[in-house]
Amino acid sequence: MKKLLWTLPILPLVLAGCSTGSADSADSTNAAGSNSLKVVTSTQVWADVAEAVAPDVDIEAIITGGDIDPHSFEPSATDMAKVSEADIIIVGGGGYDSWLYGTLEDDDRIIHALDLSEHDHSEHDDHEHEAEEAHEHDHDEEGHDHDVDNEHVWYSTEYVSEVAEEFAEKVTELDPEAQADATAVTTKMDELHNQIHDLPAVRIAQTEPIADHILSHSDMVESTPEGYRATTLSESEPTAADVASFQDAINNGDLDVLIYNPQSASTVATSLKDLAEEKGIPVVEIYETPQNTENFLDAFTKAVDDLTAATNQV
Ligand SMILES: [Zn+2]
Ligand SMILES: [Zn+2]
Repeated sequence: MKKLLWTLPILPLVLAGCSTGSADSADSTNAAGSNSLKVVTSTQVWADVAEAVAPDVDIEAIITGGDIDPHSFEPSATDMAKVSEADIIIVGGGGYDSWLYGTLEDDDRIIHALDLSEHDHSEHDDHEHEAEEAHEHDHDEEGHDHDVDNEHVWYSTEYVSEVAEEFAEKVTELDPEAQADATAVTTKMDELHNQIHDLPAVRIAQTEPIADHILSHSDMVESTPEGYRATTLSESEPTAADVASFQDAINNGDLDVLIYNPQSASTVATSLKDLAEEKGIPVVEIYETPQNTENFLDAFTKAVDDLTAATNQV
């Protein structure tokens, strides 16, 4: 109950938030009473991943459904009370869901894909470096640029697999009786990863940089006009000139496929989508978080299937 109050010695960064910290008896909220672990995640994405790993564990997402934009979310006191009572917390990191982890420093309950920054994309902790090195190692011979700095990390098959494996380990560590197996998730991610690598070298633009982690594992060429891309990456509004050059690219046939995120779409993004449709450019919808009762693993699969279908049209 006093979770937020216990203090940890200052640990070197390399240990912060990583999965291998031992569950010592000081952290034994679970020993007394209920034998079901409580897991809290920032969005439905990570709840669906956790659910696929450990279906019997009590898992709750703070942001459920597709109506709330996680980019601009502010948690309530009730939300943060759930966080304080959780045995395991899963976030994407990279600043995206810092509204959840910003006040929880060196908290070894946290499993995260990216480093736990406050929207500072230039700093990486050792955890992320390890992941990046592993990615480069896997794909060196293919010459793709996998070093993507983008907080929409749940569209990275590798990061999702890592989180699933880390979560399975932590569940087993805290409750050896619990059923936890990441295989279903990692198998699905390996399948999607192969399908993504087969996507052809077509020119893609994005109304919001939602799919960078997909594009970086394929031959698809990110062709969003530079100024527009820079402003949407930093979550600010594109200038009229940026929008005009995007419209030109559509009108001049410089783009083959448009990726559109309907969930956090501005009027500018929607008008670009309309223009692309008018010009017969295939539009692929990729959502921020799963819609309604849709499962994230299905939504990710659908996004990759839709990209496959759209790029085959080109
Ligand atoms: Zn790859
Ligand atoms: Zn987004």
